[in-house]
Amino acid sequence: MPFIISCRDTGVNCPATFVSDSDIQLLDDIHRHIDEAHPEQKDKKPSPEKAQKLIKKV
Ligand SMILES: [Zn+2]
Repeated sequence: MPFIISCRDTGVNCPATFVSDSDIQLLDDIHRHIDEAHPEQKDKKPSPEKAQKLIKKV
């Protein structure tokens, strides 16, 4: 059962979504994406606790 996280849910207007079988991998993906695509959001990267709430199961 894969997990999904939407960049939009972190507070930016961005259509990117990430899907992975691992929630740890997802956290990694979204942090890397924020570094690359939204460097101004760097200080607002979701904490692991917050990210857990943003992650949905599909
Ligand atoms: Zn994004």
